[in-house]
Amino acid sequence: MGRIRILPDQVANKIAAGEVVERPASVVKELLENSLDAGARDLRIEVESGGRRLIRITDDGSGMLRDDALLAFERHATSKLRDVKDLLSISTLGFRGEALPSIASVSRLMLETRSAEETTGTRIEIAGGKMLRCEEAALGGGTSITVRDLFYNVPARKKFLRTEQTELAHIASLATHYSLAHPDKTFRLISNSSELLDVTPVASTRERVYQVFGSQVLDELVDLGQREKELPAAPNAAPGRGAFAEEEEAPTQPFRLTGFISRPQVQKSNRNSIYFFVNGRLIRDRLLLHALSASYHNLMPSASYPFALLFLECDAREVDVNVHPSKTEVRFRHGSFVHDFVRDGIRERLIESRPAPSFSMGHGREISGRPAPGSEPQPGAALPYSEFSGMIENEMPAAESLIAEQTLAGAADSGALPAFTLRPTAPPDARFDFSAPPIEVMPGPPPSGKLSRRLDRHGEFPADAIPAPEMSLSVLSDLRPLGQIHESFIIAAGRDGLWIIDQHVAHERILFEQVIKQRAAGRVEMQRLLMPLIVQLTPEQQIDYARIADELHASGFETEPFGNRTIAIKAAPAAIGPADLEKILFEILEIAESELRGASLDDLRRDICASIACRAAIKINMRLDAAKMDWLLKALAATDCPMSCPHGRPIAMHYSTREILKAFHRI
Ligand code: ADP
Ligand code: MG
Repeated sequence: MGRIRILPDQVANKIAAGEVVERPASVVKELLENSLDAGARDLRIEVESGGRRLIRITDDGSGMLRDDALLAFERHATSKLRDVKDLLSISTLGFRGEALPSIASVSRLMLETRSAEETTGTRIEIAGGKMLRCEEAALGGGTSITVRDLFYNVPARKKFLRTEQTELAHIASLATHYSLAHPDKTFRLISNSSELLDVTPVASTRERVYQVFGSQVLDELVDLGQREKELPAAPNAAPGRGAFAEEEEAPTQPFRLTGFISRPQVQKSNRNSIYFFVNGRLIRDRLLLHALSASYHNLMPSASYPFALLFLECDAREVDVNVHPSKTEVRFRHGSFVHDFVRDGIRERLIESRPAPSFSMGHGREISGRPAPGSEPQPGAALPYSEFSGMIENEMPAAESLIAEQTLAGAADSGALPAFTLRPTAPPDARFDFSAPPIEVMPGPPPSGKLSRRLDRHGEFPADAIPAPEMSLSVLSDLRPLGQIHESFIIAAGRDGLWIIDQHVAHERILFEQVIKQRAAGRVEMQRLLMPLIVQLTPEQQIDYARIADELHASGFETEPFGNRTIAIKAAPAAIGPADLEKILFEILEIAESELRGASLDDLRRDICASIACRAAIKINMRLDAAKMDWLLKALAATDCPMSCPHGRPIAMHYSTREILKAFHRI
């Protein structure tokens, strides 16, 4: 007699539950998705003890017919797929028919539902996968599913649950983010009878972001608007067919990206604030994560992450969601197209909006998720949904295959470095020299646009006289430098208030974009050394050197091996002083060591350029005259990304007229 047997359904369901139901938040996710698929407009989530004791989701969706309600607990029972062809274009959130039987096998579950087509509803009770009761009941329309004592019959899984607070945090974050994806619906989350989230329908995602996070957070975000792109036509395809083989149909809709991203100054230490929705489904995806990081590359320090709420819509056939039982992963049919579309869309928007940090928002500030005073607090919003955060550090996809050559549109043009390029005299991170005069004011006429003209007869500012704050760095070219603080920061007056610019990082950004451009054009300015500089390398450095020798050459270093573990530098980028050469070479080898492990060649190139720019830029504790300051501000205004230096530090801070007036209690 054979030894293989088919497992009973009850066992199979419990096995499936192992993958589908990882924790209380996974139950909430499956039930919410079912409600959304059922067309619900009002979704209410109640939990007790972080979802361990009770999870109840009530919706006003289509409800289920009595026969369907019974069938729903069979394995692979679904109303969302008919045949295998449907799998190729899934437009519902569910499709596997696994969630209800899985959840019912590891909890005590009660389903109450009524379809509009029937006059009475159905109540079904199941415990540990066994049907206890099925009866008619007088119920309103829609569905309510109550899940009690999750994992009561799976002690091993129960042990792995975290504290109630942590589990609640996962649920709250999940509910918050689903509410962001569906601004036209009501979402309520109640935990032990206190309300954590309560949002009513609004017309746009922007308004929903405001409802959930408050106006202060909204101000710190950049709205992506709507970015669209069609798949390019394949070279040999018939006209209008796109990149598709003969038997395939071209997608009927373009790829569309909307959502919100944070300004580069908002830096988070993990990926918990990154949310991707693909066709309305919350997913984690390495390709999209990589695209997001790539768009912030050289705008943000490498170990920091932005806040991102991104919605990608595309033809359902372009994305395979049947990758993992929990449906949190997807595979794109045209992955590298999607990657570049998302990366370029975000980067272009960041460049367009040139967001500047204001004084109320210092460097490294995190979006707290706490709304501004006066707006409705939503404590749940601050909580991480870290089911999506146990993510894959250092496991980015092989980037070369994903990333095409990056071209910076409209980079600052001149090839030559400015006339006053100064040789570095101190390492870039030197401390401030406080012996310098604290403030040096340039002589000249006072900034124009006097507020005094607008005072009303009480000497107050009429509300309409106060300019709307200009958060964008596009105003930089209009700034008038007033002087320096500690010979390190330029103070400038603008149309809307006061600006402080870090002279070193500003110049670094200008040079960085020049060097990148020169590199792309293959004409990096080099300077031959009178005597070759001989540098001794460690064995590791020797290996890294061999790997990136071509890159070094393309960046303006002419080097050659010179005996055992020794190289000779014969020429170097013109902007770098000979005293710095050895240091910068070691710095680049160090970048190569860490970059080559995970990042793309493109990132390595950009980091080499950043290193060169940093060494060549004017330093802090350096006196600048008015003409130089003026040049610096104008050149900065002409860069693509005047908001942060290539290492991600902010360049300019803005104190708006409104903030100044507020500080003096004039408004
Ligand atoms: P799937 O969502 O993959 O189809 P589920 O096990 O989650 O599988 O649900 C099984 C079926 O039960 C669904 O296909 C749907 O027809 C029905 N169903 C589940 N939840 C609801 C609900 N809230 N409202 C209406 N129908 C539902
Ligand atoms: Mg489902």
